Amino acid sequence: MKVIGLLGGMSWESSIEYYRFVNERVKAVLGGFHSAHTVLYSVDFAAIEAMQADGRWDEAGAELNRAAKALEAAGADFVVLCTNTMHKVADRLEAGLGIPLVHLGDATAAAIKAAGIRRVGLLGTGFTMGQPFYRDRLAAHGLDVLVPDAGDRELVHRVIYDELVLGVVKPESREAYRAVIARLVNRGAEGVIYGCTEIELLVSPEDSPVPTFPTTRLHADAAVDYALGKIPLPAPPG
Ligand code: GLU
Repeated sequence: MKVIGLLGGMSWESSIEYYRFVNERVKAVLGGFHSAHTVLYSVDFAAIEAMQADGRWDEAGAELNRAAKALEAAGADFVVLCTNTMHKVADRLEAGLGIPLVHLGDATAAAIKAAGIRRVGLLGTGFTMGQPFYRDRLAAHGLDVLVPDAGDRELVHRVIYDELVLGVVKPESREAYRAVIARLVNRGAEGVIYGCTEIELLVSPEDSPVPTFPTTRLHADAAVDYALGKIPLPAPPG
């Protein structure tokens, strides 16, 4: 079994789910006493959040590059970056890294395509929904990505940063998300991506009339498939 390098803490509320999911899946596949072989590097999210808010993305990328190299030095065979948003700096993270990054957008796109869906709604942070880095990665797989309108994007983003990354789950926010999802479906979304790793703490498949693509679960499942050799790992960067 290959060693999964989890780069987490963004926030730890979702990293703990990654840890649980990879172990549950290895146990389901291999049985017995088997568990996932992992290394976890967890950052202080306050520092990362401040860099995001100030637009200091180069600095954030350099920090994640150091973290990824620490995972490599600790024996990880590949890196799983436990946040959608910070894939904005995936290129910087990979600089000089000798092991591959398993990109969350690719794992998500593979699941959507396997479900036979092309037009998909995206919920995530304002960065993920509003900027091209994530949408373009999905579009490169042939997907047509719909994002909520500006007011709904603000709501979805605010719930993530004011509640979910702090471990706060409110029924009224779940209702608000359900309404945002319904509006995406009215606009033609055939599926909805829960494209922030904390969103699964708030909503489940039952909160959507169309299939959902929960990125924490999908990324963790892909990590196990790579670790167990069910899918070949991508080549290491440069
Ligand atoms: N975990 C979140 C995501 O998947 C948001 C927190 C962060 O900015 O990393 O995008």
